[in-house]
Amino acid sequence: MNIKNNVFYRPTWVEINLKNLAHNFGLVKKIVGPKVKILVPVKADAYGHGIIVISQELQSLGADYLGVACLDEAILLRKSGITLPILILNTILAGNVKPLLDYSLTQTICTKELAHKLNQEARKRNVLACAHIKVDTGMHRIGVAHNEAYSFIKAIARLSNLRIEGIFTHFPCADNKPSFTRMQIRMFNGLIQRLDEANVHIPFKHASNSLGVINYPAGHFNMVRPGLMIYGLYPTGGLKIKLKPLLSLKTKIAYLKTVPKRSGVSYGHTYVTPRTMKIATMPIGYGDGYPRSLSNKAHCLISGREARIIGKVCMDQLMVDVTKIKKVKIGQEAVLIGRQKNKSINVEQLAKLAGTIPYEIVCNLGERIRRIYKN
Ligand SMILES: *Cc1c(COP(=O)(O)O)cnc(C)c1O
Repeated sequence: MNIKNNVFYRPTWVEINLKNLAHNFGLVKKIVGPKVKILVPVKADAYGHGIIVISQELQSLGADYLGVACLDEAILLRKSGITLPILILNTILAGNVKPLLDYSLTQTICTKELAHKLNQEARKRNVLACAHIKVDTGMHRIGVAHNEAYSFIKAIARLSNLRIEGIFTHFPCADNKPSFTRMQIRMFNGLIQRLDEANVHIPFKHASNSLGVINYPAGHFNMVRPGLMIYGLYPTGGLKIKLKPLLSLKTKIAYLKTVPKRSGVSYGHTYVTPRTMKIATMPIGYGDGYPRSLSNKAHCLISGREARIIGKVCMDQLMVDVTKIKKVKIGQEAVLIGRQKNKSINVEQLAKLAGTIPYEIVCNLGERIRRIYKN
């Protein structure tokens, strides 16, 4: 994980535009309205954007909650001085409940064992543990099965030192199955209503990821969990909202050479020069999370022009064709993601070329790449 202002020498870096974070957060706020709370997932190093700085910014922007995948991420946030409530979105082993109380964390609960262990530990310390119950309405990942959730929650609600602060579910098909998603919303609503009638009132009810926020107002309940859109990335095409990406990926030309016609380039010689070519070597590779599947497919921007990647992406380096670019020199800046002059390369395009999703591209950008934050 990257912290501000360390010395670094490698001319390969990620720039994070924090103004755009404020823009996207403001947009989510406008979409959901003043009564709906916003939990922002900052798991996986804030989708590769740097968990600490992003969480600090979100805290000052007025986010209500942060979401992480595991205890270690949550503890790192607390040790960095983050005071916002933090929900661990996944389940944990029942033997690991102590840090939840040490660091005032909220735990997702979907087993009786974990609920009892957490309650027991909280009772020992004479404190209240905070929990959100996960209900499975069709994702089939974690969560109490919907038809068992009512009795599960009624039983858990009797535990003396466990506070059920939230209840949530997740949409697996918010992009491609609207009728399924609407059915999940109905199921979740029905459960909340039954619990209300039984006098089990749970303060926070949430279901929507980014696509839920954008496409399913009925799925907002009183809290939403937008991740990708907060980082300015589109979960799918054709959305009529104006997000601004935070992240650019840049490097500098490390080496230049001219190679004759019919020379093989990089491992396996998957590219053979059709004529004499000028080739630049860039200090970035799949060891940094730049996908090897982009070999011979993607391009970067140099002098405001497209320079195609030729040959296999290596672990720490890749080669680009700069034959047609005038006055290239070692040390010159190249953009792999982001804007240069009037051209840009976005994460969504790269993901498509690499046969993956935007999430994976940004999450994979490694710790070896320094993050630079711009206000
Ligand atoms: C990561 C995550 C989200 C955010 O999803 P996006 O598609 O990035 O908006 C929401 N809910 C849960 C449970 C998650 O794990």
